[in-house]
Amino acid sequence: MQTITHIAILGSTGCIGTDTLEVIDTLEEGFKVVALAAGENIKLLEKQCKKYVPSLVVVQDEKKAEELKKRLTPLKKTSILWGEKGLIEAVKIHSETVVIATSGSYGLTAILSAIQEGKRIAIANKEPIVMAGSLIMEMANRCGSQIIPVDSEHSAIFQCLSAGKKTEVHKIYLTGSGGALRGYSKDRIGSVDIKNVLSHPKWKMGKKITVDSATLMNKGLEVIEATHLFDIPSDKIEVLIHPQAIVHSFVEFIDGSVVAQLSDTDMKIPIQYALTYPLREKSFAKYLNLIKIKNLTFEKPDKKLFPCLALGYKAAKIGGTLPCVMSIANEVAVEKFLKRQIKFIDIPKIIFNVMKKHRVKKVKTVEDVIESAEWAKREANSISSGNW
Ligand code: MG
Repeated sequence: MQTITHIAILGSTGCIGTDTLEVIDTLEEGFKVVALAAGENIKLLEKQCKKYVPSLVVVQDEKKAEELKKRLTPLKKTSILWGEKGLIEAVKIHSETVVIATSGSYGLTAILSAIQEGKRIAIANKEPIVMAGSLIMEMANRCGSQIIPVDSEHSAIFQCLSAGKKTEVHKIYLTGSGGALRGYSKDRIGSVDIKNVLSHPKWKMGKKITVDSATLMNKGLEVIEATHLFDIPSDKIEVLIHPQAIVHSFVEFIDGSVVAQLSDTDMKIPIQYALTYPLREKSFAKYLNLIKIKNLTFEKPDKKLFPCLALGYKAAKIGGTLPCVMSIANEVAVEKFLKRQIKFIDIPKIIFNVMKKHRVKKVKTVEDVIESAEWAKREANSISSGNW
């Protein structure tokens, strides 16, 4: 008889959440959705609840909970909760796997609760790892919780690392497509608008991460994410721009062998691997056609035009509360950019200034993280209000 994996999905209406549900549909009877959590898209959440009938559904606030309750009147078996407390309940409900597909720093305490419960965490959202990576990994080791990366590059590295021992790793090459502004001149970058920035050439993603791709902050965050997930220093991780987005990262071992993971540019592939690991199952994603693709090219990123990558390396090297502060300052700056309150080139300036002002502390408890995050939010807001 086939065993059923019970699954909770935090962030079910976003790109990763909807892809996860599609993967579950194709894996047929292997998974049962027991909890769903989403922010604002109540219409889609209603559809998901009617299809999967979870025991618990969590929304952003009480108002949204009321709205959903009206829409779900016939669904007597589904409880509705809201906010961070609701998220914690969603990870505590009986399940083996929790998918973290929330956006930005939201949901850190829920992740820590899921780890405490000893669950398998399929993590797509990099900000909590950037902010509290040492706490998350230490707690996961202590509680026997497995953290499986969903971020495509980290899923690739995770797979490549199984070809050797950790002591045999010489270098990790983390690839990135270069984002929407690859090849732009300095002048052009100075005058880009939101539309340019949000038209990513390869990946269909949420707005925040698409802006991060354009600034290369996404790669900066991913370097920090990799240092925690794989317990490897940042000077052993090199970022390469690979516009075709087919080689999702590669690992060079001390004997000169390089092991890479290639696949079609489809997040359903790393999502499925995180759900079925250590097994592989038939996927409905496209198989790779290298003859059609023809060229796989690699280039060095331009750290002068895209200073966020260098900021990411700096935060990774110094550690402590600095990565958290950088990530929050970035969140604030990106939000302001999306609201057309600042220019694209102001994003790295705001982050740089907040990082410069920060007095770095060691991260010992989750309170250290929350305190630095609140400080960074205040500083980034005051700087971006013209207080340069
Ligand atoms: Mg990625």
